[in-house]
Amino acid sequence: MNAIEITNLKYRYRDGTEALRGISFGVSPGECIALLGPNGSGKSTLLLHLNGLLPEKIAGDSAVKINGAALAAGNLETIRRQVGLVFQDPDDQLFCPTVAEDVAFGPQQLGLSEAEIAARVKLSLAQVGLAGFELRATHHLSHGEKRRACLAGVLACQPAVLVLDEPTSDLDPRGRREFKALLREIPATKVIATHDLELAVELCARTIILDHGEIIADGRTVELLADEPLMLAHGLERPHILHHRHPH
Ligand code: ADP
Repeated sequence: MNAIEITNLKYRYRDGTEALRGISFGVSPGECIALLGPNGSGKSTLLLHLNGLLPEKIAGDSAVKINGAALAAGNLETIRRQVGLVFQDPDDQLFCPTVAEDVAFGPQQLGLSEAEIAARVKLSLAQVGLAGFELRATHHLSHGEKRRACLAGVLACQPAVLVLDEPTSDLDPRGRREFKALLREIPATKVIATHDLELAVELCARTIILDHGEIIADGRTVELLADEPLMLAHGLERPHILHHRHPH
């Protein structure tokens, strides 16, 4: 059974903008896929559908299934427990005064015991390299630390599917390298929307390219990204990292 199964997903915003125009794909458990496409191609809208943040009900014959369960008004809670979404802007995600309180928020919503919550906070902070940051003020963290704190908060809920929106934007080169290393260690099924083509090559065996709300290509990352005409036609470019490699 696929971890994610999306069938003919369409979505139109209230003002009439058609953001998704019939998207279908499946993701196997443990797969890590890159979602590429120019600004406005529908990446964020798609990610928001994966954990039921958008919309309350899905139109017509569209379907989103997570581990076999179809997203519907009655089971949003179940789906949200399985899908952890890391927002593009950490300041949209962090809202508690201290790091420990923030990371504990998700597990508290799951109704876990105090002891279990404390254990998960400790574990997930260690996992993202923020051991000892428990009492630090979230608004005083560096940008890279904020990203890690957000990831810790999501990991503390132990989701089967991890969805990340531009996880390395605004990070300096070292921050990017460290964050990619962190992501590589996480065994969950991952969908990563990004403009960071090196990240796609390094972490994601498979890439889906979106443009105008449609899937333009779905295949092996090294093959798609080395296809210069394809990349240029959709507002992307062939990454330098592939300039000396041949697709095989
Ligand atoms: P991406 O993440 O690839 O940049 P988005 O999913 O944000 O793309 O946007 C897809 C399309 O939907 C764009 O045309 C965008 O302008 C539009 N859109 C996004 N959010 C809204 C909104 N809240 N209301 C109306 N249109 C929106």
